[in-house]
Amino acid sequence: MTTPASSGQLEPVDALYSRDVFSRAVMRQRLPKDVFKRLIKTIDQGAPLDHGVADVVANAMKDWAIENGATHYTHWFQPLTGLTAEKHDSMISPDGQGGVIFNFSGDELVQGEPDASSFPSGGLRATFEARGYTAWDVTSPAFLVRGTGTVTLVIPTAFVSWTGEALDTKIPLLRSMEALSQQALRILNIFGTSHGATRVFTTVGPEQEYFLIDRELFWQRPDLVICNRTLFGAKPPKGQQLEDQYFGTIPARVLACMAEVERELWALGVPVKTRHNEVAPAQYEIAPIFEMSQLGSDHQMLTMETLRRVAPRHGLAAILHEKPFAGVNGSGKHNNWSMATDKGHNLLDPQDDTHTNLQFLVFLCAVIRAVDTHAELLRGSIASAANDHRLGANEAPPAIISIFLGDMLQDILDQVEKGQLKRTLKGGTIDLGASTLPMLPRHSGDRNRTSPFAFTGNKFEFRAVGSSQSIAFPNTVLNTIVAESLDVVATELERAVGKTPTPARVQAAAMALLKKLVKQHKRVIFGGDGYSQAWHEEAERRGLPHLRDTVDALAALKARKYSDLFKKYGVLNKSEYDSRLLIAYEKYNKELGIEAETMVTIGRTQILPAALAYQRRIAEAVTATESAGVKCNDTVASLGEFVNLVSRLQESLATLEKVAGHHDDDPARHAAWIRDKVKPAMAQVRTFADALESQVAAELWPLPSYREMLFLK
Ligand code: ADP
Ligand code: MG
Repeated sequence: MTTPASSGQLEPVDALYSRDVFSRAVMRQRLPKDVFKRLIKTIDQGAPLDHGVADVVANAMKDWAIENGATHYTHWFQPLTGLTAEKHDSMISPDGQGGVIFNFSGDELVQGEPDASSFPSGGLRATFEARGYTAWDVTSPAFLVRGTGTVTLVIPTAFVSWTGEALDTKIPLLRSMEALSQQALRILNIFGTSHGATRVFTTVGPEQEYFLIDRELFWQRPDLVICNRTLFGAKPPKGQQLEDQYFGTIPARVLACMAEVERELWALGVPVKTRHNEVAPAQYEIAPIFEMSQLGSDHQMLTMETLRRVAPRHGLAAILHEKPFAGVNGSGKHNNWSMATDKGHNLLDPQDDTHTNLQFLVFLCAVIRAVDTHAELLRGSIASAANDHRLGANEAPPAIISIFLGDMLQDILDQVEKGQLKRTLKGGTIDLGASTLPMLPRHSGDRNRTSPFAFTGNKFEFRAVGSSQSIAFPNTVLNTIVAESLDVVATELERAVGKTPTPARVQAAAMALLKKLVKQHKRVIFGGDGYSQAWHEEAERRGLPHLRDTVDALAALKARKYSDLFKKYGVLNKSEYDSRLLIAYEKYNKELGIEAETMVTIGRTQILPAALAYQRRIAEAVTATESAGVKCNDTVASLGEFVNLVSRLQESLATLEKVAGHHDDDPARHAAWIRDKVKPAMAQVRTFADALESQVAAELWPLPSYREMLFLK
């Protein structure tokens, strides 16, 4: 498709922004006033939606979509694969006179029925009862997706089984926001600061890291094509040692690709803002302005899809895997998170005199309590085979969940513990020493890159989220554990202040509570180097859970107290919870099973033949040299070593094949087998194959090298 960006004629951005979104502005224009009002009431306040309204909206949406070239519509949903799904239907109906008309009814807008049997349900639904429904999510606007010669109206939906159980990632997210809202409002009521707010939303701004490599090279690597990561590859001579990549100049082709991704996303209403080079060669980042969580989460899925879709137009492939290349930095997704009232007040904004802002401190300490109490859940929400390569591997935050607060808040919590709040540390200004340069305000705390959960100004940043994963579940967990914490906190405060809360009573109750919370939960706060061995030992002394990998993390999630928690706050019932756990195990087992199989195939059909060809070449050189009457003992010796390496590769492939063929009906036990037997066997194969790569003649090696993939811009 020729796009405006690739043809060199750029549309002005103001015409582009939200061009393809059935936005509030479009609805205001196209809907009768009362219908518009009722719809907005549903979107903003959660009021029930009636059918008459849906019919009118459907009709307006259809007209708008058709005027923009659409022929088809789809209910877009997020099944438990962690991806998105869609099934397209045209908007055509028979006109009753042998012809067709475009038609799209309220029924079609509100409810769809894709065949649900091929999506993972984790036992929620047997194949013979395959019914699943999609239901219109009014809070996330419909949009148009343009493909070559086709435009499709996309309607964000939730996905449920016919028994009403959530089969997707969106429903629990919405429920968790509801739960948090209820509890947060109680706190605002105690402080008398709701200012007419009727809801509290959680907000999210996810920073996405990804790699872009040449597409031709990508297609020559079956491991990248099938597993999204390289299973083989000797380290490049130049890795990250020079630190010249981070924030470096963006290569021209990459910049063109990024620009096109941004323009497509703006047209879809996704407010992407930041772009830059990341730490590893060929690694980049894209970040939006934050939005309400459910919208931010939908937009994050669109961002990932758009990256994958646009990159090939520039001869590139976008790789979103957490660890596509060994030995260079992996990719994560910093999940910036906060809570705000529907009046726009950010509840995690400390404001200038933070030590007088008790309400902020109550919200802050409730989050600290939540993270400490439910660290295992948070850890589990980001557990995956892919993320196991990052967490704790001295590049991403460690698998131990801790919180970084910065000097100013740390100082305030110290004061809380002593029972008196007196001051707020100020950052002051930085004088650059040249009168033409401005004075810069200095933040009162530096950044800490090694913390998995850091307070950054007026929000928390959950940094352990994986780059390829949907942010819906981690946010569902975060919202639910904070809802629980706010519930406990509100109950205690309500009891302490009684029926007639005076400001003095509220203040005294809040101080007493804060003191207790800090004492109980300060063990989770850590401002030092999270990568260091010293911290691992310290964390153990503090009794913080350290779930090293997915197998350990998922095992911890089986505890009854966790499924009870989700049930209590109406986020997931027991079978919905269990199904997600089961799917996480299945995903781990399947992914690694596929990796092992791919490794064996590449090893046998590409690497081994190349190694044998080279072996033959050396052997022939020896024969030729010696028959010419010249001794070549060194070459004979290295031939011996080479043959030895080749046979070790063969042995390791046989071992891998054997352990990977193991079967176990119990998914948890199978996962442990994979971790303990299959992964080490894969590591063995890789060691020998990578050693061969550095010896075999380059022209015989069948796979593009790390150097080619990472440094060809
Ligand atoms: P940095 O991580 O470098 O401090 P920013 O301050 O620009 O960068 O923020 C990074 C991300 O955090 C952006 O996506 C931004 O929109 C998001 N963000 C900022 N404020 C909030 C908030 N209140 N809630 C959720 N995300 C936020
Ligand atoms: Mg950040």
